[in-house]
Amino acid sequence: MKKSHFNALFFIFFFSIQYLASSHLIFLNEPSFVEFNGYFRSRFAKTSDEPLEVQKRNYDVLRYDLYLDWYNALKNPKSMDSTDIVWFGSNTILLKAEVENLSSVVLDAASLLIDSVLVNDNGIWRKVLPTPKIVAQKLTVPLPRSLNIGDSISIKVFYTYNRFVDESQYRGFYLYPKGKYVGRLPAPFYDSVFVEERLAYTMSEPEDARYWMPCNDAPYDKADAKITVRVPSGYVVASNGFLSKVQAEADTAIVYFWVSDKPITTYLMAATASKFHKYSDWYKKVTNPLDSIEIQYYVWEKDFKATKTDGSEYNATNTFKTTPEMVKFFSQIFVEYPFVKYGMVALMPFNFGGMEHQTITSINRVWLRQNTQFGIAHELAHQWIGDLVTCATWKDIWFNEGGATWSEALYAEKLWGENGYNAFLLSSRSAYLKKGGISLPPIYDLPVNTIFGDYAILVYQKASWFYHMLKEMVGDSLFFKTFRSFLQDYSFKSVTTEDIKNYFKNKISNPQVDFDTFFDQWLYKAGHPVYTLSSIVHSYTNDSGYFDAKIILSQVQTGNNVPEIFVT
Ligand SMILES: [Zn+2]
Repeated sequence: MKKSHFNALFFIFFFSIQYLASSHLIFLNEPSFVEFNGYFRSRFAKTSDEPLEVQKRNYDVLRYDLYLDWYNALKNPKSMDSTDIVWFGSNTILLKAEVENLSSVVLDAASLLIDSVLVNDNGIWRKVLPTPKIVAQKLTVPLPRSLNIGDSISIKVFYTYNRFVDESQYRGFYLYPKGKYVGRLPAPFYDSVFVEERLAYTMSEPEDARYWMPCNDAPYDKADAKITVRVPSGYVVASNGFLSKVQAEADTAIVYFWVSDKPITTYLMAATASKFHKYSDWYKKVTNPLDSIEIQYYVWEKDFKATKTDGSEYNATNTFKTTPEMVKFFSQIFVEYPFVKYGMVALMPFNFGGMEHQTITSINRVWLRQNTQFGIAHELAHQWIGDLVTCATWKDIWFNEGGATWSEALYAEKLWGENGYNAFLLSSRSAYLKKGGISLPPIYDLPVNTIFGDYAILVYQKASWFYHMLKEMVGDSLFFKTFRSFLQDYSFKSVTTEDIKNYFKNKISNPQVDFDTFFDQWLYKAGHPVYTLSSIVHSYTNDSGYFDAKIILSQVQTGNNVPEIFVT
């Protein structure tokens, strides 16, 4: 269907305005694309997969108990043949039926070999025969008896990861040998970069968790999670939540038992292993300074020992030194930091800038060299906007990314005052205009394979303005009060765009622009107000440096899916 274009003059108004004759300039930074700071490849450049819709399943996952035996994948530091990439896993999934007569369970799984599937029926594990196979990224497990609403059951899937593909085809699980040439850094250094230690990690957003574990791979479904990873001795594993136990197997292997303290969705689950140096900072809670939260950093030894801050070294301590203050800052403006720990693990190669895995952000190691403070702030802010409260579907991703980008502006305000906040937002706006502005589609309901690619500019930069404009319209004190109570009420849950709209509708009466119109024009529809200045007549400058001007300003809207008029 081809949509019609229209071109009309919708309203004209006259008004008098006082201009200050002197001009005020704000320095414009280059746009910040902190999450696209992986120098060597850009996200989704390599894939032409059809977008997949998030579909509400007829069950709710209550718990994942995941075991990843990465010993084999890590044992040879430098080699990388087809057998080196093979590893074994199991995922025990406790789920609850949300419909009557649930006779089978459909999980997401991709490119995994399913070794066996067991279902726990009244305390007895029974093997499902024949062993279910993955068909079109789905693993359908027949149940021994139908479940009714509220009944729960455990399913245990044993699987083998043996996806031996060129690294440009990696999905979900990434493995790099020690000494591998990564690439050359851009100016002014141009130095060659190599992998310091063999490195294995997962990276799932939006829909790649299914490549390393069978699961309900949808952002709305949060569950408790345990991630247990077995690696060769000498390797360190970073993951979500707290480390409940580390168990050595003689001198050969070591097993890390991580437990998520709070519910988590699949794209935020992560495990990373390398010969890391781990060190910590502590954040004193703003709500209770006697209580502290550990901030863990996982970096290669060389990066921990670096002393230069001129960009010639990967300097972890220099880049991370502001983190406790940042946690304090966001705890003050949002709500208290909501998880048991925070952490960052530095990865290279990493195709992305940073990824806000719950309690353990993965960052591109380049940030240690560039001292990328706004990247650190962006990922940290996601712990509230994205992790504590999560987009229910990928249509709602603007909530995560717009919120974290707007949080960067808040951090700029903390550093440099109002000018910092404004400069950050103006650079985001000019980036949006440069990337197409009015010709771009609406922020809401973009194809999932564009949200971190072609249309990232909408869900990051333009959506950051949605937050800003909402704050401006409502006023700072009421906005932050409402946003804080929203974060509290939706803690450890997921939200749709409609949930957010309804929350504001219920909490704030008589906004300047009603919330239906506001959400409609800025999220569900495309574009922005376009004004034409038709005429201007002004008086001579008076003694105090002011002059009167009379102007005709018209809002003229054209374009596909652009509102007939923006109410401002
Ligand atoms: Zn982000």
